[in-house]
Amino acid sequence: MDSTMKLPALFGSMVFNEETMKEHLSTASYNAWKKCITDGTSLDISTANEIAEAMKQWAVDKGATHFTHWFQPMTGVTAEKHDSFITPAGGGKIIMEFSGKELVRGEPDASSFPSGGLRATFEARGYTAWDPTAFAFIKEGSLCIPTIFCSYSGHALDKKTPLLRSMDEVSRQAIRILRLFGDTETKRVTAQVGPEQEYFLIDKDLYNQRKDLKTCGRTLFGATPPRGQELEDHYFGAIKPRVAAYMKDLDETLWALGVLSKTKHNEVAPSQHEMAPIFSDANMACDHNQLAMEIMKKVADRHGLVCLLHEKPFAGVNGSGKHDNWSMGTDTGKNLFKPGSTPSQNARFLLFLAAFIKGVDEYQDILRATVAFAGNDHRLGAQEAPPAVISIFLGDELNAVVESIINETPYQEAGKRTLEIGVDVLPAIPQDNTDRNRTSPMAFTGNKFEFRMLGSSQSISGPNIAMNTIMAEELKQFADELEKSADFQGDLQKLIKRVFTEHQRIIFNGNGYDDAWIQEAKRRGLSNLVSTPDALPAYTAEKNVKLFVDHGIYTREEINARAEIHIENYVTVISIEARTMVDMIRHDILPAVSSFSSTLCQRAADKEKAGVPCKYETITAKEIGETTDELLEACNKLASDLAMLPTDTEKALTYCHDVILSDMARARSAADQLETMTAADVWPFPVYSDLLFSV
Ligand code: ADP
Ligand code: MG
Repeated sequence: MDSTMKLPALFGSMVFNEETMKEHLSTASYNAWKKCITDGTSLDISTANEIAEAMKQWAVDKGATHFTHWFQPMTGVTAEKHDSFITPAGGGKIIMEFSGKELVRGEPDASSFPSGGLRATFEARGYTAWDPTAFAFIKEGSLCIPTIFCSYSGHALDKKTPLLRSMDEVSRQAIRILRLFGDTETKRVTAQVGPEQEYFLIDKDLYNQRKDLKTCGRTLFGATPPRGQELEDHYFGAIKPRVAAYMKDLDETLWALGVLSKTKHNEVAPSQHEMAPIFSDANMACDHNQLAMEIMKKVADRHGLVCLLHEKPFAGVNGSGKHDNWSMGTDTGKNLFKPGSTPSQNARFLLFLAAFIKGVDEYQDILRATVAFAGNDHRLGAQEAPPAVISIFLGDELNAVVESIINETPYQEAGKRTLEIGVDVLPAIPQDNTDRNRTSPMAFTGNKFEFRMLGSSQSISGPNIAMNTIMAEELKQFADELEKSADFQGDLQKLIKRVFTEHQRIIFNGNGYDDAWIQEAKRRGLSNLVSTPDALPAYTAEKNVKLFVDHGIYTREEINARAEIHIENYVTVISIEARTMVDMIRHDILPAVSSFSSTLCQRAADKEKAGVPCKYETITAKEIGETTDELLEACNKLASDLAMLPTDTEKALTYCHDVILSDMARARSAADQLETMTAADVWPFPVYSDLLFSV
């Protein structure tokens, strides 16, 4: 990429976006594409051919030689299979070709992607189909075409298809509500998302010396360093030159790809940072977040760094999450979660708020499940991340409004009337940009909700599919009720009051890290799904299956398949971690401490001969010997328990959690003690102080 380019020219220079299409397509083809994305009509083959030809010409001019369908299988990362544009043209020559057929449909061999049993091996092929609502782009010499990915029988095998379905559905239901408020203009309501991405940067040479980081993305060992994040000097601190150079390169690379990277800063833990983009529609936000995660790693490599996206690379300092800022906007430019300045806007806002509150209360479990996986279990419920209990933070002003509606008490200064929805204006509700309550899993921040339980490495698709679908369900119920009403204002007031009253238990404005809250949440009957094995059954709970099936987001088979994939993923991740741990203990830690203690014994013997005191050597050798035995025993138990992993995946799920994780904790504790007793130069890999302050 040419870094001498001015930013406006650089931005989106690698994207075949709307402007570029206008430039390169005939008016007829451009209009056909536009109609295709606004009305959902399909493209005829001659238009597809023209678009493909224009895309190829544009891409080749920018140095591309290949094209690939770019999709999001259920691994959570993106997949691509590159084909070159070359076609033999006789006489040993080639021409560059790309047809409409190649643009709109691909047939990758799908047999190596997880399908949760949806794709029988006899029909291993899946197909990819162009998502014309997302722009094609050039990455590393390939024209990337965002696509959905399905099995031959039509089942979604990816994370984009259900997201698109959920966006359509929530739009449909929201429009029914808007019509009731007399809005005849809005044609489309869009779920809007801005994901804040946290990450760690560490030195590549050090990374390469740690098998755990290389195979698991997190450290499995590491004694608490003398200094962690206690000084609180890293958060928003001055950015070091090497990190600043990385961030600059990252921004420029993302900008060229049309990603609206906006803010960058240091986070709480040493070597932890964040990038937040400007929000966009949920589909683009999801594509761009996948792209951002990939680019973050690649750019790091160019700078001799490694970008860690794992939720908990280091014990004892903050882990990384991804705040999913979510709202709904109309194609006429209104944000439906922004309190307005007129009584009617406020009534609409309160109705959407009521739908959100009711939805989060009724579907706490499925929201929790969408953020449940092995990596995130280290965060949720720990002191730096939201608790595993889901609740909504509204802030003082909005909470006062909700309470006054429930209790029919004056809403402003004492003495004023009670709030009449649709007649009164709300008190000013400030936009919260200051993260006033960082402990809430779902915080209202003035014009959007911020879902803070997502892990840094995960695709944001699942949580947003759930939010969209839940919102669609509640809006549908409200529309069903209010469309029948003969007294809209009166019934609206009653409905909002009823919903706030029935679902007030989900609202909590206090400190989510407080133990008292966990007790209080229990009294309120809120669910507290502490770990992944606790949370995953929510996927297949009948009420949740019904939610997704009724709205056409997943079929029953698709949801069962996804649940299966999540279980398998948990078991696989824990198994890999456990095996890595055994490997590091047997091949690295035990040999190192053994030779160190021999050295100590030898020195002790020499000293004794010479009549020199040798307390350090003898005591340390003895302590190391005892702890080494403990480590050996813990390691052997871990290895033998691992060999007995149940074949039934559901049994394996709880077994991994109850047996393997506690074995690992025991082994780690012994190993970490040994680290503190051993000379620095004999410990077999870099320790926390090296890693955390390496850049
Ligand atoms: P903070 O750290 O205070 O939460 P940031 O600026 O880091 O604030 O991130 C806020 C994120 O919320 C950005 O990605 C921003 O684009 C996004 N955002 C702002 N308004 C909306 C909205 N209406 N809908 C969805 N996301 C939004
Ligand atoms: Mg935030």
